[in-house]
Amino acid sequence: NEFEDFYLKRELLMGIYEAGFEKPSPIQEESIPIALTGRDILARAKNGTGKTAAFTIPALEKVNTKSTKIQALILVPTRELALQTSQVCKTLGKHMGVNVMVTTGGTTLKDDIIRLADPVHILVGTPGRILDLAGKGVADFSECPTFIMDEADKLLSPEFTPVIEQLLAYFPKDRQVMLYSATFPLVVKSFMDKHLNKPYEINL
Ligand code: AMP
Repeated sequence: NEFEDFYLKRELLMGIYEAGFEKPSPIQEESIPIALTGRDILARAKNGTGKTAAFTIPALEKVNTKSTKIQALILVPTRELALQTSQVCKTLGKHMGVNVMVTTGGTTLKDDIIRLADPVHILVGTPGRILDLAGKGVADFSECPTFIMDEADKLLSPEFTPVIEQLLAYFPKDRQVMLYSATFPLVVKSFMDKHLNKPYEINL
């Protein structure tokens, strides 16, 4: 298979090839077409399989850069992963005119509020700060179609799980949830049963 087979925007395809990706990896081949249909996804995949691009490519493809609204949230468990993931988004979306913002705890809330006054299309970060921003009405997810969780097994810790559930309540009912996890513990299964709608399951 080829990236051309997904009928992506030309600007996105340029970013993909410039990143040095020649062909989709197995997880990308399985995730991207399903994600583009809007169906919920639960994917069991390890690091190093190309999973970041498996969810950032469809998220980027669906962005309408003419809109000023947040169109995808990517939740990750750590600051380092947030920075890496936003970098992948920026690299792949380089020619699209897409605005990607990263936010985690440990920085000034005020700076985030200022940055969110400008259009942000994709927001990447850790749950606590993002819930703060949603609660203050600074980050508006009421029309955000895509909710992505990477390393869900780590995200769904006892302290993060209620935060993530509160955050989900700010999203529209028909949002798409994409969940990527290296392992599949009970917390991930119960979250899936509760919040995902007939997810397409990927096991690699
Ligand atoms: P990840 O599993 O998302 O951490 O990605 C692991 C590494 O694979 C990263 O360095 C990516 O840049 C790279 N990568 C992801 N997808 C592809 C691809 N289709 N072709 C070549 N390299 C890729």
